[in-house]
Amino acid sequence: MIIGCPREIKNHEYRVGLTPESVAELTQRGHSVLMEAGAGDGIGAADDDYAAAGAEVTDVETVFGWADIVVKVKEPQRVERERLRTGQTLYTYLHLAPDPDQTDDLIDSGATCIAYETVTGPGGGLPLLRPMSQVAGRMSVQAGAHALEKAQGGRGVLLGGVPGVAPGRVIVIGGGVVGRNAAQMAVGLGADVTVLDRSHDVLEDIDRQFAGRVRTVYSTATALNDLIGAADLIVGAVLIPGASAPKLVTRAMLGGMQPGTVIVDVAIDQGGCFETSKPTTHADPIYEVDGIVHYCVANMPGAVARTSTYALNNATLPHLLRMADLGVKTALDRDAHLRAGLNVADGRITCRPVAEAQGLDW
Ligand code: NAD
Repeated sequence: MIIGCPREIKNHEYRVGLTPESVAELTQRGHSVLMEAGAGDGIGAADDDYAAAGAEVTDVETVFGWADIVVKVKEPQRVERERLRTGQTLYTYLHLAPDPDQTDDLIDSGATCIAYETVTGPGGGLPLLRPMSQVAGRMSVQAGAHALEKAQGGRGVLLGGVPGVAPGRVIVIGGGVVGRNAAQMAVGLGADVTVLDRSHDVLEDIDRQFAGRVRTVYSTATALNDLIGAADLIVGAVLIPGASAPKLVTRAMLGGMQPGTVIVDVAIDQGGCFETSKPTTHADPIYEVDGIVHYCVANMPGAVARTSTYALNNATLPHLLRMADLGVKTALDRDAHLRAGLNVADGRITCRPVAEAQGLDW
């Protein structure tokens, strides 16, 4: 089978669909890989690295023109959608629910479109989304620690403290994948960490995982209000699947916080869980409201493109190998988890939440 991997063209996207190591896995099994020249520049993988792994390095027309499966990271941009064709499979993040234009173009393309974010896993959850939440969770504390420096507008607090000076206080709202990874980094730095969640199972798991090193609190408006007044860093990591993030911290509540407290709203891609959050970029990540520093970058993993690409490939490669070896149709027929990723096929929407989000009959 021919696998194609174009260079990502979305603004400030440095990740790439295939690492040289993934290419080698494919070519060793007898598949052909077409890589667009320069596709790996953002992760420090040169065209020569891909060629050494057995890929043919070529132009974008050849990649889209010949590939049976096109592997990407971000949803296809308009010019990419125009290149897709019947008989081809697109394997990438799509996020179609709020994007009718893209959905219509993919339906018109005739391509089979598999969205990373809806592929399920045997252990539950969304295993192709998970690595990016792990990255964002770990990054949130790194970003927050930097923003706490005085020059960034922060309180001038070192999260780990030093002997004789208390560590910083970190509050993590939401103890899912992002929240746990944030807690792990904050604990590693020596901070005083509290995680709030509404799920008893999550709170129990965290209590076990951190053996008492992290305080767990059932998430209510009162508990949150009590805790944020003494916080140095607050990480927003809640998710209600399929819904906008609930606004758990209102603008009025900022008044009860210490000036220079830092908010890192990881949930900003779902609208954010702080009333005062608005999406920012890596080029200009922080802003201040009522003396509180906000970091609300919507694509945090993009900043660590190399780590993120490798983490993503670890999750996407097994399905890709099976599709290449068995053929896409057989791989989909045999694996209900991969099938859950099928969003568009044969000129129609094949994913119920996408259809419902767009007001279509299912
Ligand atoms: P998850 O489903 O693993 O965890 C979400 C947690 O929020 C769950 O444990 C849930 O019980 C909890 N929760 C729900 N309502 C709550 C409430 N009122 N109070 C406290 N906890 C509550 O989700 P995740 O993978 O950790 O993702 C969290 C958010 O981060 C999502 O919006 C996701 O899209 C986002 N995210 C953003 C970036 C970025 O670059 N900004 C990257 C990855 C993920």
